Amino acid sequence: MGIGTRLAQLGRTSDVHYGFVNTPVYRGSTVLFKTLDDLEHQRARYTYGTAGTPTIESLESAWTALTGAAGTALTPSGLGAVALALLAALKHKDHLLMPDSVYQPTRSLCGHLLEKFGIETTYYDPLLGEGLAALLKPNTSTIFLESPGSQSFEVQDVPAICALAQRHGLTTIIDNTWATPLFFRAHAHGCDLTVEAGTKYLSGHSDILLGLVSANARLWPALKRTYQSMAMLPGAEDCYLALRGMRTLHIRLQEAESRGLQMAEWLGAQPEVDRVLHPALPSCPGHRLWQRDFEGSTGVFSIILRPGYGREDLARMLDQLSIFGMGYSWGGFESLIIPFDCRPYRTATTWNPGGFALRLQIGLEDLADLQADLRAGLDRLRGMGA
Ligand SMILES: *Cc1c(COP(=O)(O)O)cnc(C)c1O
Repeated sequence: MGIGTRLAQLGRTSDVHYGFVNTPVYRGSTVLFKTLDDLEHQRARYTYGTAGTPTIESLESAWTALTGAAGTALTPSGLGAVALALLAALKHKDHLLMPDSVYQPTRSLCGHLLEKFGIETTYYDPLLGEGLAALLKPNTSTIFLESPGSQSFEVQDVPAICALAQRHGLTTIIDNTWATPLFFRAHAHGCDLTVEAGTKYLSGHSDILLGLVSANARLWPALKRTYQSMAMLPGAEDCYLALRGMRTLHIRLQEAESRGLQMAEWLGAQPEVDRVLHPALPSCPGHRLWQRDFEGSTGVFSIILRPGYGREDLARMLDQLSIFGMGYSWGGFESLIIPFDCRPYRTATTWNPGGFALRLQIGLEDLADLQADLRAGLDRLRGMGA
C-alpha cells in the first residue's frame, strides 16, 4: 500500500473505541485488577501507566510499522531519544564513534553524561565511510550517525558505515530526524537503532516535544529493557498530537521538499549568498550519497553568506525580518532562520565557511512573501533599504 494509505491506517484501534476514528488520550497511572489471582499473574491487557496505554501503543505500533523496525520506545524529547538509544547500546568502558557534525546537545550528552560512566567518545569526519575502520579500537561498540549533519548538512555514507559495523559486530544508531522514515529508510540501510525528534516534522506544529527510538530485531530487547528501567515516557496528550501529525506527514513533507528546494535555489542565485548547503543540491558535501540513498529532501537547509559582512550587518538583516522568526527547532508550519557557528566545538574537522552561516526552515507561508522578506533582509545586510 502507498504511504498515504499507510499513514491513514497505522496505529488505529477504532474497534475497541466504539468506532471512534482516533485512539483517545488515556491518562493514567493505576490500572485496576479484578481479582487477587489476576494481580498475582499480571493477567491484564495493561498493568500500569509506565508499562503502556492504548494511546502510547498506537503511536509505538504505527512508528514500528512505518520504520520497518521490530519495536519502538517513546521519549519526552528528541534529545531524550538520543540518550535512550545510546544507553541501550553502550556499557561501561565502551568506545563510541560520533560524527563531528552531530546535533550539538548530543555532543554535550557524550561529554557530560557518558564520560561519567566511563564511555569514551571519538569524533569523526562525517564524510568518512570505510575510512572509519582506522578509528576502531578493541572496545569500540557503537557508531552513531546523523545524516545529514545538523546545521552543516554533510550527508554520510550510511550503507558503508553499517557494513563496516556489521563486519565488526558493532551497533549503529542514526539520528534520522531531518529525513524522517519517509525519505530515508534507515533500518533497510542497515542501522540498528533509529532516532527521530518527533518534535520536528511528526508534530509539524511547534507545539510538542517528543522522541522516538525504533530498533531492529537484534537491538529491540536491549532498547526495551533500557526503556523499562527508566520509564521516561511522554505525556498522553503529546502522543495523541504526534499520531494526529502522522496522518498528514506525507503531505507536509511533500510541501517541505518542494518549498525547500525552490527557496534553496532562489537563495543560491542571490548575490549576497556564497553557497547553499542543501543535500539535494550539488554544493552540499555528500550530495551524491543523498542522490543514491534518500527518497526525498525536507525543508531545512543552510546558506553561507559571502565574506565581508559584519555582525551589525547581520543584525540589521535578521532583526527586522517580518515573516521568518529566529528560534531553535524546526519542522513546524512557520518559517525560521537562525545563525550558527560550528567553530567552537568541532574537533575532528575544521569549520571555516568564510562568511556567516544561517540555517533556514521553510514553512507553509507563500513563497513570494518569504522571498520578499529575505530579499529585503539581504538588502539591509548590504546597508541598503530600511
Ligand atoms: C531537534 C533535534 C533533536 C532534539 O529534539 P528535541 O525534541 O528538541 O530534544 C535531536 N536531533 C536532531 C537532529 C534535532 O534536529
